[in-house]
Amino acid sequence: MSDDKNNCVFCGVANGGAVTPVRYEDDEMIAVDNIEPATPIHVLVIPKKHISSLATVEEGDQLLLGKLIYRAKLLAEELNIAETGYRVSINVGKWGGQIMPHLHIHLLGGAPLSTHLREFLTEAELPQVATE
Ligand code: ZN
Repeated sequence: MSDDKNNCVFCGVANGGAVTPVRYEDDEMIAVDNIEPATPIHVLVIPKKHISSLATVEEGDQLLLGKLIYRAKLLAEELNIAETGYRVSINVGKWGGQIMPHLHIHLLGGAPLSTHLREFLTEAELPQVATE
């Protein structure tokens, strides 16, 4: 997995390169609609600091992680999916389905979500990690 923030798509998004609506932005994070939504509401909460994955988060990142998750909760309220329910998830690494090598939190909702987490992929079906 690339750890080169100079070629990182989400570092670009964090620096004004968003191509989908920006739902929230402050000094530490940006939240944008997923360019390929999996659910009617699919927002990505992205830290502006380049962290390649949850797997590379360090002790000093704990407060930032909490802020990202709390922002997902607030966005769910703003997008009117809090009452019906939603999912917050982080894909980690190849088998976790992580495509973009920059930590991000998925806020998924707007429809009743399947809990079929037992559907596995073959190696050939794994999505390709984004590189540029
Ligand atoms: Zn990045």
